[in-house]
Amino acid sequence: MSGSGEAAGIDRSEAEAAARLASVGLRRTPGRVRLLGLLMRRRRPMSPQQVHEALGPEAANRVSVYRALDAFVAKGLVHRACVDQRTGMFESADRCAQDHCHPHFTCRSCGAIRCLADVEVPLIHGLGGGYRVERQQVHLVGLCPECAAEARNDEETAR
Ligand SMILES: [Zn+2]
Ligand SMILES: [Zn+2]
Ligand SMILES: [Zn+2]
Repeated sequence: MSGSGEAAGIDRSEAEAAARLASVGLRRTPGRVRLLGLLMRRRRPMSPQQVHEALGPEAANRVSVYRALDAFVAKGLVHRACVDQRTGMFESADRCAQDHCHPHFTCRSCGAIRCLADVEVPLIHGLGGGYRVERQQVHLVGLCPECAAEARNDEETAR
C-alpha cells in the first residue's frame, strides 16, 4: 500500500503548491505545480539538474525548469540555498522565515546536504551602516553523523 500512500502525498503537496502559486499570482500550469510540489515534498535543496531528473520523462525541458525556478525565487516561494559554490541549489521557502532561512549542513566527506529546520539561529546584529541585508543564511560544514561515526571507528582501529 506504500504506492498509494506516496500518490496521496503527491496529491497533497501539489494541491498545496497550486495554492501557493495562486497566492503570489503565478499561473498554475501543470509543470509549475509539479515542480513546486516536488520541492515541497523533498524538503532539501536541489540543483536544477536534480529537479529535472526527479521530474522524470514528462519533465519540461531544462530551460523551462530554470525559468520556473527563477519565477518562484522572484516571488519568494523558493530560495536559493547557499550550500554549493558551483551549482545553484533551490528549495521550497515554506520552512523559512521572511528574513532568514533555516541553516544547512554540508558533509565534506560524503557531500550530503542536510536542512537543519529545527535549529534556532539568532539573527546577526552589528553589521554597521551601508549594508542592506535581505535574508540571513547560515551554512555549516563538517562531518555528518554517519561519516563522523565512521571516522571515529577508523581512529579507534588505527590506535
Ligand atoms: Zn530559505
Ligand atoms: Zn557524510
Ligand atoms: Zn533547507
